[in-house]
Amino acid sequence: MSRINVMQPWLGEEEIAAVTEVIASGWVAQGPRVAEFEARFGLAVGSPHAVATSSCTTALHLALVVAGIGPGDDVLVPSFSFIATANAPTYVGARPVFIDVDETTGNVTADAVRAAITPRTRAVIVVDQGGVPVDLDPIRAVCDPRGIVVVEDAACGAGSTYRGRPVGAGAEIACWSFHPRKLLTTGEGGMLTTTRADWAARARQLREHAMSISAAARHTSVLPPAEEYGEVGFNYRMTDLQAALGLVQLSRLPEIVRRRRELAACYTEQLRGVPGLRCVADPPWGTSNFQSFWVEVLPGHPVGRDGLMRLLAEADISARRGIMAAHRQPAYADRDCGWGELPVTDRLSSQTLILPLFHQLSPVEHARVVEVLRTAGVPR
Ligand SMILES: *Cc1c(COP(=O)(O)O)cnc(C)c1O
Repeated sequence: MSRINVMQPWLGEEEIAAVTEVIASGWVAQGPRVAEFEARFGLAVGSPHAVATSSCTTALHLALVVAGIGPGDDVLVPSFSFIATANAPTYVGARPVFIDVDETTGNVTADAVRAAITPRTRAVIVVDQGGVPVDLDPIRAVCDPRGIVVVEDAACGAGSTYRGRPVGAGAEIACWSFHPRKLLTTGEGGMLTTTRADWAARARQLREHAMSISAAARHTSVLPPAEEYGEVGFNYRMTDLQAALGLVQLSRLPEIVRRRRELAACYTEQLRGVPGLRCVADPPWGTSNFQSFWVEVLPGHPVGRDGLMRLLAEADISARRGIMAAHRQPAYADRDCGWGELPVTDRLSSQTLILPLFHQLSPVEHARVVEVLRTAGVPR
């Protein structure tokens, strides 16, 4: 019996060949592969401008910088998310203000956003949590007329759909992750997509020290023109090694999503009727890529969430506690983040469990996970 991990990237010979080719070319930093990956990714998610970055975290930072968010501003964010969502406003000196999420989707809603807006609110970061598409249109209907920028943290969202289009297609600005815990991986890596040419151009410069001419462009001439640094930038570049990986991974996306949805449907089907468990599901407005297949372990379950984690571990199955709550972390516990009660976040973060789900998960492995969940608390 071998260990079942919660996630495993799907990589093959094509990725090895693509990276080998980049090494052989002698150009391994940001260059033509990054440009190609940006173009293809923008097309895939239906956004006119795509800027590759070193991670989703750095893309979120850039998104807030180009949107002009800074000290004195409030940014509404779900606490129920990976910590990077809350950190981005903190990086620019703004204040993340935590809002609660909907219990069914784990995402923020237009009502929660509307209720939390104050004159200091300048932006909202919404998340497609675990791949479940956020209901973006009503949130933009609240924010757009008030001049509040909506940033979509689509770190988990590649391959999910919203109202018949790819997630991110309806966003003014969205940020993506290619960490191995997500569907597509470049090792580390991220992307910023936006409908605004001016924001894309500034993000493109800021990720590269705010240089007026990119290093790749300067390299093409023997006597390069002198570059200028108009503002304080960052080094948030992706490398061509990563982009080469990303191009192959992107071509696999439809197949990865198909398989994940198939496995998620198997979990849902086989766990139906197991008392005390509720599985994440597609919302009415879209489809999830099931980046995280979570179950809520309801009160009254014989062994509870942590008991299930232990039973799974005994069977050499590595599950994960559900999505975290940033407001409960020491990094935010003592900060003034203007939050009220977050009952759904508190409940979901303490009662949810993420089950193993990855492309290569075999039927036998899948059955092993289901068996533990079905027999937990049943006398043997
Ligand atoms: C993974 C994740 C991030 C961070 O992505 P990195 O590429 O690792 O920086 C940000 N937001 C959410 C919602 C995530 O799940």
